[in-house]
Amino acid sequence: MKQYSPENLRNVALLSHSGAGKTSLSESMLFLAGATTRLGRIDAGTTISDYDPEEIKRQISINLSIIPYEWRDTKINVLDTPGYLDFVGEVKAAIRATESSIIVTSAASGLEVGTELNWNYSGEVGQSRLIFINKMDRENANFSKTVEQFQARFGNRCFPIQLPMGSHTDFTGVIDLVKMVAYGGTSSEEMPIPEGLKPQALVLREKMIEVVAESDDALMEKYLNAEELSSTEIVDGLRKAVGGAKAFPILAGSALSGIGIRQVMDAIGLLLPSPTQRKIAVATDSPVSDVNVDASNTPAALVFKTTADPYVGKLTYFRVYSGSIESNTQVFNTNQNSVERIGQLFLVQGKTQKPVAKVEAGDIGGVAKLSATVTGDTLGSQAKQVKLSALTFPKPVYSVAVYPKTKADLDKMGSALARLAEEDLTLSVKRDAETGETVLSGIGDTQLSVAAEKLQNKFGVGVDMVTPKVPYRESITIPSTAEYKHKKQTGGHGQYGHVVMSFEPLPERNENEFVNKVVGGTVPKNYVPAVEKGIQEGLKEGALAGFPVVGVRCVLVDGSYHPVDSSEICFKIAGAGALKQGMLDGKPVLLEPIVNVKVTVPNDFTGDILSDLNTKRAQVMGMNPDGGMNSIDAEAPLSEVLKYATDLKSITQGRGTYSMEFAYYKEVPGNITQKVIAERQADKVKEEVSK
Ligand code: GDP
Repeated sequence: MKQYSPENLRNVALLSHSGAGKTSLSESMLFLAGATTRLGRIDAGTTISDYDPEEIKRQISINLSIIPYEWRDTKINVLDTPGYLDFVGEVKAAIRATESSIIVTSAASGLEVGTELNWNYSGEVGQSRLIFINKMDRENANFSKTVEQFQARFGNRCFPIQLPMGSHTDFTGVIDLVKMVAYGGTSSEEMPIPEGLKPQALVLREKMIEVVAESDDALMEKYLNAEELSSTEIVDGLRKAVGGAKAFPILAGSALSGIGIRQVMDAIGLLLPSPTQRKIAVATDSPVSDVNVDASNTPAALVFKTTADPYVGKLTYFRVYSGSIESNTQVFNTNQNSVERIGQLFLVQGKTQKPVAKVEAGDIGGVAKLSATVTGDTLGSQAKQVKLSALTFPKPVYSVAVYPKTKADLDKMGSALARLAEEDLTLSVKRDAETGETVLSGIGDTQLSVAAEKLQNKFGVGVDMVTPKVPYRESITIPSTAEYKHKKQTGGHGQYGHVVMSFEPLPERNENEFVNKVVGGTVPKNYVPAVEKGIQEGLKEGALAGFPVVGVRCVLVDGSYHPVDSSEICFKIAGAGALKQGMLDGKPVLLEPIVNVKVTVPNDFTGDILSDLNTKRAQVMGMNPDGGMNSIDAEAPLSEVLKYATDLKSITQGRGTYSMEFAYYKEVPGNITQKVIAERQADKVKEEVSK
């Protein structure tokens, strides 16, 4: 592949609801461009973009993949993305690395949830967009209805620039509303428009021109004077409006049969912006902020994806924004403040890699085995350091506890999980010190079960994933006093430690306190730290169910000692014993973590969300309706919302999103306390047995 100047490059993400035909579209484009000699098929697992074993097995995309091809005088880097909502991290990365997106929709299913979410993600960063209505050959394919859905949802700035010909049984081609010609089948030969379709084509053309004219004063004047606009003027106007994300042209076709695909490829080159037409997004704390798309400028490349493979090692994918990155050189990583040695660079096509000497401004490349670099970092020059705006990912909300299947799995699990989290920044791994569990968090259950399969297949680590334990706490509700005498006479010298203590609940249920109020040395000073140690250890496992104790003031009031038999250990035992008794007499309670939940759903679902929250012991704190969506703030016990990702998905068919963060601890209602204690005891028995 020859070197392309930034003007002749297009970076385009394919976005859609799962199954609308992104992968088929990329296959079809590659085939027509002559980059492949046969058309890959999803069901046969032979596509260029879905090559991962998990993708072939599930027949869905899990990773974004990069598939470049050359078309006329342009190189197009297509980034095929997963449509499944759990893999939003890949979608966000693809959007960050491209100027524009093609929103792919099935003509048979119409505008779906995933389409809408992806539209919003793309819109958040002001991407240019084309809409491709695919599957025109499918039964129930309905072009007009799908167009109407887009217009109803996103306004009249979504408008057809093509009209499909024929019905689903004989979908024969597309009419170009700019040139007013028709293309039959997969041919690029211009034909006259069939007479019967002319009136409809003229009406749609008029609407298209109206939107185009709005983007340019000179065109508007001509339009108002009823002057005819030339094809060149329309294309120029369209390009300007599309470049500014003010117009979203709609095209139609069938990725499977290839009809209409050449026209999509032409539209990418003609209408979508090149890297030179976008301002480079630089981080606010970037040392150098004056960067532009020019191969001779300061080098700056953004790492948008990292993959970890036990055989190949780490692969880093980057988008060059300015200057160029060369093979076998050193670059500077601004984020890590370190030098990286760059080996052989390559251009990517699905899973294959083509070595190249350099990757220039506007283009996308990859490199193996970088040491310090992670996704989101900027690579460039040490002399003129640039920090590009990093990628933003949604926070993980859904967690599972991961247990190794065997001892051998345990040894490898930590590093394998860390590698997965490096690949997918919407995954996070942490060890919960309180429950002792390794917790893997992400966006949804499919993502986490794919992670489990990757652990097995890529890293040979077998794991079980279970619902994480809730970190309960214990406290007391009334003051109590307790006396404990540890006294033993065994042969030689005996053991003696004696304390009298009082315990009070603290208003804040965070820290515990230890106070020494002994007067007259009834417990000698040198034994007081031992008493405190016994208390501190006892507080780690409460008397009710063995959960950590919070919010208790422990006061050492009195006691006695023996000049020969007393020792630190005796006073430690006495302290722990008094605490146990005092806790039981202090009307102990179980406390559970309460989380703040923010659920955002289309307005229609508000009722269903509220009644579901009601069954989860949640308290709704407020609602914020805004433009068809509603944000509901609630407080809920963590134990009730551990699987909220799955519940929300089923209530809203995937239209809802939520975030969750710890708020405070609250008393568990009596009936639930008994259940938790019973479960905890059963767990302890299990632990004992497995020891
Ligand atoms: P993705 O999830 O968006 O990548 O969708 P795929 O490309 O994997 O397509 C999903 C399914 O739709 C596959 O079985 C394809 O063969 C089928 N498909 C894709 N495009 C078309 C099309 O234009 N017409 C028909 N009839 N089927 C299609």
